[in-house]
Amino acid sequence: MSNCRELCPGCGACFPIEVGPVHPYMTSSPACWRIYGALLAAEYGDAALMYTHRLSVDTYAVQHPGDRSRRAIQSVGLHLSRLMLQQEKEGPPEETNAVMLRFGAHKASLDWLEPPQSFSITVADMEPFIGGPQHADAVRDWAAKTWADWHAHHDYIREWVKAATTSPD
Ligand SMILES: [Zn+2]
Repeated sequence: MSNCRELCPGCGACFPIEVGPVHPYMTSSPACWRIYGALLAAEYGDAALMYTHRLSVDTYAVQHPGDRSRRAIQSVGLHLSRLMLQQEKEGPPEETNAVMLRFGAHKASLDWLEPPQSFSITVADMEPFIGGPQHADAVRDWAAKTWADWHAHHDYIREWVKAATTSPD
């Protein structure tokens, strides 16, 4: 990108320098957060993108693992878990939401997971597709590649999900 000026501390993509809001613990550059906001706005405005929306939220969260605070650790673990379910055990959306509630009850047992060195696709690559006919396909690809980028922790997440879904509350 020719107007590349600063690397996002989360996803590593390069953006122009901007001044603007960012999320309190999913550390990102302001330009990255703005593009994510535009992506979400396109999804809120289209009921057909409801399923896509959940993938976007999970994918962005695990590309911005944040400050190693307890809430950041839990956010990454929960979103990775839901991302795993959507990649490996695709069920009806309601089922995924019910599972997420159950995960929430077990989030205190999640550990810090060292994020990948880099990500294959970032929200910067999503920008040209926002609100267009390829929006859903682009997000699915972004989600699948991001889950693959986290391969070092796949077994940890699968085991954690198994424990969380089989142990008593
Ligand atoms: Zn970013």
